[in-house]
Amino acid sequence: MADAETFAFQAEINQLLSLIINTFYSNKEIFLRELISNASDALDKIRFESLTDKSKLDGQPELFIRLVPDKDNKTLSIIDSGIGMTKADLVNNLGTIARSGTKEFMEALQAGADVSMIGQFGVGFYSAYLVAEKVIVTTKHNDDEQYIWESQAGGSFTVTRDVEGEQLGRGTKITLFLKEDQLEYLEERRIKDLVKKHSEFISYPIYLWTEKTTEKEISDDEDDEPKKEEEGDVEEVDEEEEKESKKKKIKEVSHEWELINKQKPIWLRKPEEITKDEYASFYKSLTNDWEDHLAVKHFAVEGQLEFKAILFVPKRAPFDLFDTRKKMNNIKLYVRRVFIMDNCEELIPEYLGFVKGVVDSDDLPLNISREMLQQNKILKVIRKNLVKKCIEMFNEIAENKEDYNKFYDAFSKNLKLGIHEDSQNRVKLADLLRYHSTKSGDELTSLKDYVTRMKEGQKDIYYITGESKKAVENSPFLERLKKKGYEVLFMVDAIDEYAVGQLKEYDGKKLVSATKEGLKLDDETEEEKKKKEEKKKSFEDLCKVIKEILGDKVEKVVVSDRIVDSPCCLVTGEYGWTANMERIMKAQALRDSSMSGYMSSKKTMEINPDNGIMEELRKRAEADKNDKSVKDLVLLLFETALLTSGFSLEDPNTFAARIHRMLKLGLSIDEEAGEDDVDMPPLEEDGAEESKMEEVD
Ligand code: ADP
Ligand code: MG
Repeated sequence: MADAETFAFQAEINQLLSLIINTFYSNKEIFLRELISNASDALDKIRFESLTDKSKLDGQPELFIRLVPDKDNKTLSIIDSGIGMTKADLVNNLGTIARSGTKEFMEALQAGADVSMIGQFGVGFYSAYLVAEKVIVTTKHNDDEQYIWESQAGGSFTVTRDVEGEQLGRGTKITLFLKEDQLEYLEERRIKDLVKKHSEFISYPIYLWTEKTTEKEISDDEDDEPKKEEEGDVEEVDEEEEKESKKKKIKEVSHEWELINKQKPIWLRKPEEITKDEYASFYKSLTNDWEDHLAVKHFAVEGQLEFKAILFVPKRAPFDLFDTRKKMNNIKLYVRRVFIMDNCEELIPEYLGFVKGVVDSDDLPLNISREMLQQNKILKVIRKNLVKKCIEMFNEIAENKEDYNKFYDAFSKNLKLGIHEDSQNRVKLADLLRYHSTKSGDELTSLKDYVTRMKEGQKDIYYITGESKKAVENSPFLERLKKKGYEVLFMVDAIDEYAVGQLKEYDGKKLVSATKEGLKLDDETEEEKKKKEEKKKSFEDLCKVIKEILGDKVEKVVVSDRIVDSPCCLVTGEYGWTANMERIMKAQALRDSSMSGYMSSKKTMEINPDNGIMEELRKRAEADKNDKSVKDLVLLLFETALLTSGFSLEDPNTFAARIHRMLKLGLSIDEEAGEDDVDMPPLEEDGAEESKMEEVD
C-alpha cells in the first residue's frame, strides 16, 4: 500500500467539525440527504461532460447511486458513479479550502439555526460526522488514479493512493463508520423512509443493497443430491412420517439491489394531480432548503416551442444573495428529461437569481455546449417566458398580504434591480413595488394605491430618498407637500435611488423627488403669486450675502417654494446626486474618486422667507452687509441644513464648537481669552454687542 499523506484541516473547517461532533443535534438524519445530494451533483457533472464526449463514461457506463448497509462492520456506504475526485480535488474540497459558507454556517448554528441548514451553506459533506466517528472516501476521477481520503476528524485527514482496493471504475464511495448510538441507519426500513422523505426526486436511480431471508421447506432428498436415487422408496413410506423425516426448514439469505426512489420527474405530471406536499418535497430536494417554498408555478408552454417548468420562490433570501463572487442561478436545465446544467446564465436574468426550479425543453439539442447556449434563440424565448411567469407568480403572492410582506422583505432589492435593468418588464415590475409614505402608516403602499389617493390637481408622484424612514419622515423638504395634503413615498433602500432613476414615471405620472431642484407646486392665486414675488425680491440681497459667505459650498442661494417651517434646506440638481446618493457612494468608497467629485451633489440653498430667523438675518444684513454675526449664523444654518437635508458634515468639530459658543452666549457665560480655538473666529455676537454699546456711548 502506498504511503499515506497527512493534511491538516483548514482552521474554520476544523472548528465546524468539532461543532458538529460535540454539539447535540437531534436532526442527524439529514446526513444521508446531503451525501445523496453530493452524489447526484457528481452524476450531473459526468453526464454533462459525456454529452459532448461519450468516452467519458467508459470507466463506468451506468449512472447510479447505491446504498450499502453492512451490519457486521457497522458501516453505511454511499456509492455513486459520478465524476469522482482527483487527488487535488480531495485535498481541496474535503478539508483544506474553506467555503465562504463555513463561518456563516457556524454563526447561524450558534444563533440557534438547525443543523439541517448545512447544505445551503455549501458544507453538507461534513454532516457525515453527525453519525460517523470515521469516514473513508474512496474516489476515482477520469483524470487520476483511485485515492482514499480518511479521517476521524480530530484536526487532520490522510490521502492515500488506492492500488489494492476494489476499483470503482469511476465515481465515489463514502463509507461511514457509524457511532455506536447511530446504528439505526443500518436498518433497511429507516434508510428507505429517509430516501422517500428527503431524496425522492433525485433523478438517478438509488439502489439499496437489501437482504432477504426466506424460510424454505425442502425435503432431505432435494437437499442431498445422492439421495435422489432413493426416490423410488419414498412412495412406500407413510405420509406423516415423510413430512417429518424427509422435509426440513432452512433459512436462505439472498441479497439484491432494490430501487427505492420513484423516477418519473414531477414536472412531467399534471399540476392538478400533484399535492402541495409533493411540491414541497421536490422543492427541498432541489434546493437543500429546510423550509417549504413560499410559492410555486408549474406550467407547460406549447406550440412552436415546447417546454415544461416548475418555478419556486423560497421563503427567505439565501445568506449570500448578493455575493458577487457567487453567480446565482438556480434553474436547472433539462433537455428531454436529461439534466444539462444548473447555472445557465442565459436562462434567467440576474435579478431573478433567487427563483429556483427546473426547465425541461423538448427543442434544444442534447449535446448543447455553453458557447452554443449564449446565442441560442430557443433559449431566449424560454427566458422571456420564465420572466413572464415569475412576475405572474409574484402577483399571485401579492394576493395574500402576509405572504407578500415576507416576499417583499426578502426580495424587494431584486425587484428594484429588475426595474433598473429590465426595461421590457419595468412597467410590470413597478406594480410590485411597495413603500412607506406620509400616509401609509405602518403598512406599505403600492404605486397603484398611491395614485388612487392623489389629490385633485396633483399631477406628479412625490418621493423622498434617504437613509431610513425615521430620517426622512420629518424632513423639511416635505413641509409644503404635507401641508398641501400630497402624499410622499419614502424610498429608503440604497437601491431605490437607482431604481427610481430608471423608472421616471408610473401610470403616466412623473415621479418627482422632493429634494431636488425645481420642485414646482403651482397652485396659488394670482394675488398670492404676486405677494410671493415681492417677498422674493426683498430677500434677493440676503441671498447674495449668503452666497458670498458660503462661497463654493453651494452652487446658488434662492428663495424656496417648498419649505414651510424650517429656515432653509439644501437641494440637489435635478440630474446630480441626491444627498442620499452621495451618502451611498461615499459608503461604497468609490475607487475612482474623480467621479465622486464630478457627480457629487451641486447644492442649492433654499431659504424660507416666512421664517423668523431669515427675516432677522435679512434685517441685519440690510443694516450692515459685513455684520459678523450674520456670517456666523449663516455658517451655522448651512451646517444644520446639511444635516436635516440628509448630507453628512465634513467637519463636525467646527460645527460643535460653533454650537457650544451659541450655548455659552445663551447662558451668558463670558468667553475667556486664550480659550479660543485657534481655527475658530470669535463668535461675532460679542463684538456686535460692543459696537451697540459704543453707539449708546
Ligand atoms: P456542496 O455540495 O455544496 O458543494 P459539500 O460540502 O456537500 O458542499 O461538498 C463539498 C465538495 O466536495 C463538493 O462541491 C464536491 O466538489 C466534493 N464532493 C463531495 N461529495 C462528492 C461526490 N460524491 N463526488 C464528487 N465530488 C464530491
Ligand atoms: Mg453538498
